[in-house]
Amino acid sequence: MICLTGDVHHDGLRTNEQLFLAPRKISEVAITLDYVRLCGKYDVKCTLYVTGRTLADQWEAFQPVTASPLVEIGGHTYAGLPQGAWVKLLSRLSGEKACSHSSSPGTCSSQKRDVARMLEIAHRRLDKPIVSWRSHGLVRDRHTYGILAGAGIKFISDDLNWHQLLPERLPQGLISHPMNVIMDHDHLFHAHRNPEYVARQQRPFPDDPASGSYTIEDWGALVEKQVRAIEAKGGVATVLMHPLCMFAADGFKTMERLLKQFSKFKTIWASETENYLTPLSKEFNQNAEK
Ligand SMILES: [Zn+2]
Ligand SMILES: [Zn+2]
Repeated sequence: MICLTGDVHHDGLRTNEQLFLAPRKISEVAITLDYVRLCGKYDVKCTLYVTGRTLADQWEAFQPVTASPLVEIGGHTYAGLPQGAWVKLLSRLSGEKACSHSSSPGTCSSQKRDVARMLEIAHRRLDKPIVSWRSHGLVRDRHTYGILAGAGIKFISDDLNWHQLLPERLPQGLISHPMNVIMDHDHLFHAHRNPEYVARQQRPFPDDPASGSYTIEDWGALVEKQVRAIEAKGGVATVLMHPLCMFAADGFKTMERLLKQFSKFKTIWASETENYLTPLSKEFNQNAEK
């Protein structure tokens, strides 16, 4: 099984990658629509974790994405943890790009407010509740999952773990299906992530099993190899391919090649990973690790 996922951000967030693409006058939402069309060409399901502001501020442009029968919409925070004015100023003065998002998810009460706003706008726009979530920048703390579970979220995909091949239930009640295939953005040379930027960047996620950066072609080959290995073991391969990264790296060329491969297997949404949650999943994952 393959669970293809992507994260989508509102243009107002002005991430480093959005700013890099700004001269091309194409928005992340428009790129996402092309991504979904390509998934449609190969009949591959995808779960898109979308910031609430995308639904609030860019609904007209985004609505066709939600109309696809292949797409599940999940939450990705309402506001996208924008950096404070102070960090932005320091970054401008030093000439060095700061990370696009804050390194803290905020206080417990501000997280509660953000989650409630995300769920409210999603319900209003989509006419049904969302149940799947990924933390933006994978930034979360000890409060986050309790808040999400209390608000009705059931599925989370924040962990980076190549040994966990089946979903498992967390103590807070959420079902976790980690990204168990090399993720795209932080391992790809693309957009602003040129060799100089990569050499300066500190390792963003301490639990990330991968450390290097690759050309889009080499990254694509790694993804294909890992997905095939997980399929051979009967696991659920959760793949992160951001619309923006796939577009910026090579105009969807590698993505299309991967979709062609993915279409040979069963593809599922995050909200369907529950079907692969078995009492044996812990044992299965431990065996896969050996
Ligand atoms: Zn994000
Ligand atoms: Zn990227």
